[in-house]
Amino acid sequence: MRNRCVPAADRHTTSRRALCRGLGAVLLCCLPGLRAQAALLRDRPLDVAEVAAGLFVSQGAQAEATPANLGAIANTGFIFGRERVAVIDSGGCRIWGERLREAIRRHTNLPIAYLIQTHMHPDHVFGAAAFLPDKLEIIGHRNLPAALARREAYYSRRLRQALGDLAAGSVIMPPTRLVDGVAEIDLGGRVLELKAHPPAHTDNDLSIFDRATSTLWAGDLLFMERVPALDGSLLGWLAAMEELRRVPAARVVPGHGPRAAAWPDALADQQRYLGLLRDDIRTVLRRGGTMEEAMETAARSESGRWTLFDDYNLRNAAAAFHELEWE
Ligand SMILES: [Zn+2]
Repeated sequence: MRNRCVPAADRHTTSRRALCRGLGAVLLCCLPGLRAQAALLRDRPLDVAEVAAGLFVSQGAQAEATPANLGAIANTGFIFGRERVAVIDSGGCRIWGERLREAIRRHTNLPIAYLIQTHMHPDHVFGAAAFLPDKLEIIGHRNLPAALARREAYYSRRLRQALGDLAAGSVIMPPTRLVDGVAEIDLGGRVLELKAHPPAHTDNDLSIFDRATSTLWAGDLLFMERVPALDGSLLGWLAAMEELRRVPAARVVPGHGPRAAAWPDALADQQRYLGLLRDDIRTVLRRGGTMEEAMETAARSESGRWTLFDDYNLRNAAAAFHELEWE
């Protein structure tokens, strides 16, 4: 059973649900071995790399969430200034959040003042409870509370199916401070610029720019190596990339992919894929084709270039078809 980055409960068919339940049952049968792997992972210090001064990233696995990877499939990390620490995304379960918190404490004893949630997807938000002792501010896009409320029951159920009892204590924690447009937070001689984007990957994407090191933390506005998952607006995402391109960053931390990559070159693959998806679907629509045709053909030439392509491309094509048929 998998904990997808793009799930929209209302897109699931009854048969898909039945299949998922079946797969979940199979996975739970295998849990003892996977749990042993999870225990090994839990006991090892979290591997975080300092990709710029005072900016650390833990790289997520290029896979779906399983007990063996503890749901750690997204890039997460932290930044500190002279006075405070900001966590960026807490990972896919509470255990992962605890490991991230321990990693922070190996590098600094400064107060952990902020948890920035880049968007609603479960692989980015389910570790938040680990930071309850810090009494921190949780920051998110102004649309994030409503989005989390809509998906909370579904995400929680899927997490339990994916991780079994390793999901214990993993809860959604809505933001305590909302960003509408742009905002800044000061970590002590180090200002982070936060930007709430119009619908793109989701309708609640927040990006972070660290002026001190010219590092853009893009969250899932940027996928690298793993195929992008569309859960917002295709045209909006393409527009967001054009806007982000102007950010004067030297490097970017993507939501999925390497810990960091050169900016803006890192945009190239995602821009090509999403542009092709748009163009192929418009071609089908112009000749009066159906959504099934669009799903069969759109962006097929990208197969082989991306991890998990077959898991997401059909879904992306369906979502994009619904969006573009009203143009
Ligand atoms: Zn996402």
